[in-house]
Amino acid sequence: MTLEEAEKEALKCVHCGFCLESCPTYNVTRNELFSPRGRVLAFREGKSLEVFASCLFCRRCELACPSGVNYSKIYVEAIRRVRKLDVSSVVESPKLLSLTLRALRRSRPYLPEPREPLTHKDERAEVVIFPGCVTSVLFRGLVEKAVKYFRAVGIKTEVVNGCCGLAHLHSGNEEGARRAVERLRERAKGRPIVGLSSNCVARLKEEGLEAYDFAEFVVKRGLPVKGRAELVTVHDSCHASHFGLGKYTREALRMLGAKVVEMEEPNYECGAGGYSFILNDDVSEAVSEVKKNMIAKTGAEAVISTNPVCTLNFLRKGLRALHVLDLMEA
Ligand code: SF4
Ligand code: SF4
Repeated sequence: MTLEEAEKEALKCVHCGFCLESCPTYNVTRNELFSPRGRVLAFREGKSLEVFASCLFCRRCELACPSGVNYSKIYVEAIRRVRKLDVSSVVESPKLLSLTLRALRRSRPYLPEPREPLTHKDERAEVVIFPGCVTSVLFRGLVEKAVKYFRAVGIKTEVVNGCCGLAHLHSGNEEGARRAVERLRERAKGRPIVGLSSNCVARLKEEGLEAYDFAEFVVKRGLPVKGRAELVTVHDSCHASHFGLGKYTREALRMLGAKVVEMEEPNYECGAGGYSFILNDDVSEAVSEVKKNMIAKTGAEAVISTNPVCTLNFLRKGLRALHVLDLMEA
């Protein structure tokens, strides 16, 4: 991505405003400066780029735009100039990530206790399990369960820890993001990758890797599942929604016997995008509250979240958030 490419994208905007209502930060502020159109204009004029700091990078505006503006290209170029914090080196090192999360836990007691990422490799492993950086240290139980499940259904796996590069993009570090994907591509050696963090899966798919969300892999391979039947609602994480991954989550839940009660807008942003799950400014907090109310209205016993950052935000808001794997017997 070059500055010229981002500028070319910004020039495609015809100010129609079709993106406004799709944008969660506009939705809670009703302020043009917090809208995709306002942000694109700021980029075109080369000023007030700080309006990108409140963007949750959910990409809902891209789905709504009739002119095909690739907002992501503009976002990455703009955020690079305004973001003071770059977490790239932290997410690339499980040790550093654990230390950081442990420190954050003092003021954020809802964060699970960080653990060492799981190392596992079957001989002649045919499938790569990719937990994603946050899942590997905060939700290691899910990784253990995935390994056990695949063993039970006769699939040999290797766990490959690391980052998909999405966190790098939130810092505007495109080169770091590209390197993260290449590292993963090398370690996968052409084997299918099963991800436990659906937004990371979306990124890997976008980069041309053969990646599947856990539920997607189970459904596409017709693998057997057993589990608990609960009344749940499904949150469709933002990037994963671009690839329609939510339909596999629902199908896997149906196979488990769970009953899904749909919320008003399953792919409405959870409020944690970008760095908001750490920073929680007023705008992201207002978005989180909208989402919480949508979930509460369903009367479900739990919200199914396939992406760890969304899960953390739901836990922060006092909700019971589960991954599909949490409902499974492995
Ligand atoms: S990425 Fe999401 S928060 Fe950012 S401008 Fe687009 S719709 Fe709004
Ligand atoms: S929908 Fe697309 S073209 Fe219309 S204002 Fe939004 S970004 Fe610009």
